[in-house]
Amino acid sequence: MSEFATHEVFNQPQPLVDVNLFETNRALQDALRFNAPQLDPAPLRALGALAGSAEMQTHARLANVHTPELRTHDRFGHRIDEVEFHPSYHALMSAAVAAGLHGAPWGASSADAHILRAAGFMLFTELEPSILCPISMTYAVTPALRGNGAIYRDWGPLLTSRSYDPQLKPWRAKAGVTMGMGMTEKQGGSDVRSNTTRAVADGSDGWGRRFRVTGHKWFFSAPMCDAFLVLANTEAGLSCLFLPRVLPDGSRNALRIQRLKDKLGNKANASSEVEFEQATAWLVGEEGRGVPMILQMGTMTRLDCALGTSGLMRQALSLALHHTQQRVAFGKRLIEQPLMRNVLADLALESEAATALALRLARGYDRRDDPHEAAIARLLTPISKFWICKRGSAFGQEAMECLGGNGYVEENGEGVMARIYREMPVNSIWEGAGNIMALDLLRALRGGDAAAALAHELAPARGVHPALDHVIATLPMRIELLATEVEARRLAQEVALAVQAALLAQTAPPAVVDAFCASRLGGDWGQAFGTLSARADFEALLQRALPQ
Ligand SMILES: Cc1cc2nc3c(=O)[nH]c(=O)nc-3n(C[C@H](O)[C@H](O)[C@H](O)COP(=O)(O)OP(=O)(O)OC[C@H]3O[C@@H](n4cnc5c(N)ncnc54)[C@H](O)[C@@H]3O)c2cc1C
Repeated sequence: MSEFATHEVFNQPQPLVDVNLFETNRALQDALRFNAPQLDPAPLRALGALAGSAEMQTHARLANVHTPELRTHDRFGHRIDEVEFHPSYHALMSAAVAAGLHGAPWGASSADAHILRAAGFMLFTELEPSILCPISMTYAVTPALRGNGAIYRDWGPLLTSRSYDPQLKPWRAKAGVTMGMGMTEKQGGSDVRSNTTRAVADGSDGWGRRFRVTGHKWFFSAPMCDAFLVLANTEAGLSCLFLPRVLPDGSRNALRIQRLKDKLGNKANASSEVEFEQATAWLVGEEGRGVPMILQMGTMTRLDCALGTSGLMRQALSLALHHTQQRVAFGKRLIEQPLMRNVLADLALESEAATALALRLARGYDRRDDPHEAAIARLLTPISKFWICKRGSAFGQEAMECLGGNGYVEENGEGVMARIYREMPVNSIWEGAGNIMALDLLRALRGGDAAAALAHELAPARGVHPALDHVIATLPMRIELLATEVEARRLAQEVALAVQAALLAQTAPPAVVDAFCASRLGGDWGQAFGTLSARADFEALLQRALPQ
């Protein structure tokens, strides 16, 4: 660096690059050991090195600075409805697909395939979260797409292929495919029963019953995906339909991209508004039963929202720790200032608890044949999506503040903290906003013996901390008391904290368990981060969380 005549630049931290994101994440490693003791972490080590590399971080910056552009027509006036991306977007997509984040578990024989992929998804989020939108939807589509065996036979192998192929081509010519979903319309997103898009029967062929779809979707992310599951009304009611961008004969399907959304964050990902004009689509599952069918996809993307926000929290925490280790104020490094230690330790607790909960949920998807695991997945999906994503924005703000003014500055995409902060709210909104998740928890509690499954889940944590013991003893009564619409958020919060504490009791060192239980369960805490009691073991909490 050259020196300026007026002053020397000093006390400005070095960027956090070329760090293995897996090897430096003890909370993730311990959660993995707990949930999947047999898992070979070698692929995660490799992905951690790649995702933390300076080269990939440059791709992440460029993909967010040079945002997607819509090309509705070619220069001769033909409609093409294509989105053009910066090469760095494709480099990121290629890396995510090569790592199998878009679908590897569906083609794997390992008992831990979903949890391996979940940990990889968290690591990749620390690199760049917005390209993970199509990656997540592609991963999520398989359970629903199996509702049409013929299409699944043709598309299944392409959905697990490790080759990223961004060209719009007929499926037979593709090396790999991505898929998206279209539910939300202008007049309603949470309440999809208000959908007005219509589907008219149009015969049948090797892929089953064919329909012509006319209508619109107000949010339609990643419109360059090869196909989508969409909701439309047939005579029998809302149905789930498979709508490819390119038809088997090579012609383009009648999907018009009206415009791209100008979003707060999630900049590298194109989210669009579309119209269908007699677009061709095939029925998936039972006609008139489209909502439960497409919600099988929604369930998996909700898992990814929890994983994604946990990854963003870890990234924000690492940046805050890295910065405060280097920056000096009032004669000490910031990380040595007692009050900053409180803030950082509190963030570390939140981040570790999010990691533990999200990975526990992922384990449920590996063991769905086990009734307990199925019940836990049903219960923890809305809870994790609600609580972790809800905590994300406050977490991002506090982590940003640790960097002072630098945290708020974008500087051509180099200010990663600002990008994280802008990204945080989206996982809370899409795939079912907070209230919808809390209401879904009520539904989960009504079906089967969810309370018994929860009690079974918490039992191994008994005797570790008095506040946790009290919560375990009183939770059944609290569930009965709070299981109403008006208090559904309180219920989701209480269950989330109880499960997080119970998980930490089994995976984390005593300093983490004690501070988490005392603050989150015992009430020895304030309403902002950095309000832990002076009794917390700050040194142990910080040493555990440091990214080096
Ligand atoms: C960047 C981005 C990308 C997206 N991509 C896609 C996509 O690819 N495909 C797709 O289908 N959708 C997509 N969405 C849409 C997203 O899933 C919806 O925005 C979301 O489901 C909420 O629907 P809505 O916007 O219509 O809000 P509304 O349904 O109007 O909800 C507004 C608020 O009311 C609350 N609410 C609703 N009902 C109740 C109730 N009964 N009780 C209490 N509160 C209630 C909600 O929780 C929410 O806070 C995307 C959204 C964003 C922001």
